[in-house]
Amino acid sequence: MKEVALGIDIGGTNTKLGIVDRDGICLADTSMPTGEDSADKFLLRLYRTVDQLIMPLRDKIAIQGIGIGVPNGNYYKGTVEMPANLPWGNYTPLASWIEDHYKLPCKLTNDANAAAIGEMRFGVAKGMKNFVVITLGTGLGSGFVVDGKIAYGHDGFAGELGHVVVNPNGRMCGCGKKGCLETYVSATGIRRTVYKLLADHTEDSEMRRISFEDLDGSMITEAAMRGDVIAIEAFEYTARILGMKLADVMAILSPEAIILFGGLTRAKEYLFKPTLRYMEEFMMPIFRNKVKLLTSGLTGANTAVLGSAALIWHELDTYQTESPR
Ligand SMILES: [Zn+2]
Repeated sequence: MKEVALGIDIGGTNTKLGIVDRDGICLADTSMPTGEDSADKFLLRLYRTVDQLIMPLRDKIAIQGIGIGVPNGNYYKGTVEMPANLPWGNYTPLASWIEDHYKLPCKLTNDANAAAIGEMRFGVAKGMKNFVVITLGTGLGSGFVVDGKIAYGHDGFAGELGHVVVNPNGRMCGCGKKGCLETYVSATGIRRTVYKLLADHTEDSEMRRISFEDLDGSMITEAAMRGDVIAIEAFEYTARILGMKLADVMAILSPEAIILFGGLTRAKEYLFKPTLRYMEEFMMPIFRNKVKLLTSGLTGANTAVLGSAALIWHELDTYQTESPR
């Protein structure tokens, strides 16, 4: 029997599941729509999907635990609290419900912290004790590893870099505040920037013919690669704000590496080059030329699931939680 962990990544749109061994090999995976259900109806569907995933492997694997990455996941309490994009209400004790159902240890955290643990265990942060993971998706998530441990803070929610203020009179954010970093630096943020630039400038751009709803991060990347001046300017603008805030992160934590993760990183040099330049420019001189700006070392379609599974491996190996019943 092979010892495996079940990794579950619950996103606003899709929920991904995978069976992952200690080396980060994903033996089987699947996904289901997260949907608009209440938490208990969602769980019933999740259990069915898990059972279907496990069924063909049931004689070959021994599941050691279940790791979950979920927006607003509270590691300390195993709860999901006030998630903006899930109609679950204010407080869902998700980990204890799943532990009761499967009689296995279950740990959850937010998706960016799961990505950070994934990088530490299977990715580019192997052997690092101090690093930061920034996830650039619909929003901006962040996981801070300090002295080999995720910084959860006193309430379990530490590391919300996406909601530090860039401009107090700036763009409206989904969290209810104005001018948060993620309203500028995220797939949604750069779309907003493109439309602002299109309105302010007269240059031709292939994106003038695309509606806001249809425009996505990969279209902006492709336009930049074709030399579209608005797309290149949008990355420059995004990178300046990101670089400025990463310089702040350096001042607070002095990490060895900052790892960018998520769809927007496919823009490669259009994002990384100006971000590194601006980060160094805004940095206090004693920190300059010390930090590595890296792209995720988790590859394949299962990166989010690898992070969630890594959470439970990390837990079992580091803290020696109760052995599976
Ligand atoms: Zn916000």
